[in-house]
Amino acid sequence: MLKLASLCFPDPEKSCFYCCPPIRDPEADTLDNIEERRAALRLNRKNLAENILRAQEIPGDSCWGLGFLDDAEKQAGCLLHPLRHNGRDLRHLTGYQFKCANALCREALVFAELSPDEQKFCLTLCRDMDSFTYSSRSNPLMRLLAWEAGVVRFVIDDSRENKPPFIDKYAFLWQELDFRLDGFLVFEILKKAGTDFLCQRLAPYILFRNRLIEDLRTLQNERPGQGLTSAPLLPVHKLDIPLSLSRLLKFGADLWELPAAGRESILSKTEPALEKFLHS
Ligand code: SF4
Ligand code: SF4
Repeated sequence: MLKLASLCFPDPEKSCFYCCPPIRDPEADTLDNIEERRAALRLNRKNLAENILRAQEIPGDSCWGLGFLDDAEKQAGCLLHPLRHNGRDLRHLTGYQFKCANALCREALVFAELSPDEQKFCLTLCRDMDSFTYSSRSNPLMRLLAWEAGVVRFVIDDSRENKPPFIDKYAFLWQELDFRLDGFLVFEILKKAGTDFLCQRLAPYILFRNRLIEDLRTLQNERPGQGLTSAPLLPVHKLDIPLSLSRLLKFGADLWELPAAGRESILSKTEPALEKFLHS
């Protein structure tokens, strides 16, 4: 069963409201124009009854149903949620009830895969944040949770045992790496060689990953009748390979479709290169 409540509402001091409204600019962040946002959340709470009477479809960059949930202005969230209206869902008044009710970020899904103990550790990283900083995708926890649960677990285990603060040791994950390009390789390296190996070889790792991407890109060049492109093409995420490897193909090598047999070519390039790097 999904355990989402604690990432959205970690404690009484804050909440996440990043996914409101679900039709917003995906680049918009809760720390943008923070004073304007704060004023809007305050006003929406104050004018809720009136706004409900004059309900209008939301424009996309804001929602009149999004407001502070408490007088102390600590938590922010949906003022139209059924939990605030004895089970009546008023989100349809904004025109996007379905999207609102189904909004679920990648970070919440990854968080839900963690054990209660791991979740607790994650939330300690945000102990002193307010709702704006907590919701922001510059929040290191949210950045960490963009990676797959396997990588997150390695980071948590290492951070529990080691002295350097999590943020000092692992900021490279979002400052120098990208979960879409590096998710597969980083997880393999962590499994086989551990966190210190990766941390100490970051520059060589980036070189290795870029060379591998160049090599994978050559799969695109094989001619019909001579190689992979003669067979029916499948989206790479449908190949029998880890999803994280299909992201490397798409976002790194710009390979979005390959024949099913392409799996062998991908693995024959990836596995030996990875082994070589691990023993370098
Ligand atoms: S962005 Fe994710 S964590 Fe934040 S409220 Fe939405 S689902 Fe919850
Ligand atoms: S109706 Fe509620 S859930 Fe939907 S965008 Fe507005 S505040 Fe968010």
